[in-house]
Amino acid sequence: MANAELGDDVFGEDPTVNRLQDVAAEMLDKEAALFVSSGTMGNLLGLLVNARSGEELIADADSHVFMAEAGGAAAIGGIQIMPVRTEGGIMEPEQIAHAIRPEDQHYPRTAAVTFEDTHNRHGGIAWPLTALRAASDQARSRGIAVHIDGARIFNAAIAIRADVKELAACADTLTFCLSKGLGAPAGSILVGPHAKIAEAKRWRKMLGGGMRQIGVLAAAGLYALDHMVDRLAEDHANARTLAEGLAEIKGIKLELWRVQTNLVTFEINGISIAGFLDECQKRGLRADAGSRTRVRFVTRYGIDAEDVQSALKVVSEVMGAV
Ligand SMILES: *Cc1c(COP(=O)(O)O)cnc(C)c1O
Repeated sequence: MANAELGDDVFGEDPTVNRLQDVAAEMLDKEAALFVSSGTMGNLLGLLVNARSGEELIADADSHVFMAEAGGAAAIGGIQIMPVRTEGGIMEPEQIAHAIRPEDQHYPRTAAVTFEDTHNRHGGIAWPLTALRAASDQARSRGIAVHIDGARIFNAAIAIRADVKELAACADTLTFCLSKGLGAPAGSILVGPHAKIAEAKRWRKMLGGGMRQIGVLAAAGLYALDHMVDRLAEDHANARTLAEGLAEIKGIKLELWRVQTNLVTFEINGISIAGFLDECQKRGLRADAGSRTRVRFVTRYGIDAEDVQSALKVVSEVMGAV
């Protein structure tokens, strides 16, 4: 980051940002990429270029876009969201067909659908490639654009042993985070066709996201793509060990099938989530509430197998005392 070659990215003259965008577009096999401040901004731009004011977007009822992006699609884009309840975040083709509005003056037009992969609130579940293809084909065959919220798309690809390009091929636009598991301090990428990325750039400017010598951050993003992708498998292995250990502890209800990547979510009995997190924190273990009913543990770079054992010891102690 200290040695990054810089220029003014608003003029498209920051060589480090340009390199990052080229590398990202190539890795996902898309025409173009745009460096943005956050996953939230990437998703918002992805929705804004796929749906217009008054149109509708189909999204999972537990998706980040619907639950955790401050209503941006509605506030900024005038886009209405049609939430759909799914099993594990995997939207079935029939559910999409059912959610698409018939042509009728009473209804908003369905313009786009978004899939979240991996699915955060469902516990880091990765879409099977066949399911993602089927859902995407269903939408596209009806003229509906597909945006993938791939905040953790590399975790998803590793979990199903696919090339990330195969996942990206199911989307018109896709966002992924350079932060989170890939370890960069900030930044996300939106990929898609030239025309949509050009349109997204205009929206990014309007939102105040056109930044100048931002190659400082892009350098960290390049490092992340070069060095941090393959090692995500270690986070998955650590999450698996953690989950198997937690499942043995009395008072914890954990469905092991959900643990496919770096997230471990579970319910607890006998203590509130806030109380549980508090007791853990007192003993040096930090986590957060994944939802109102579940605790969410995350494994990441810097957390090793030994840390997993310490975490299990802490949780045993906390749950043993309730
Ligand atoms: C974190 C996250 C985002 C948003 O990313 P930020 O960089 O925090 O804005 C979007 N989607 C999912 C599934 C996420 O987990």
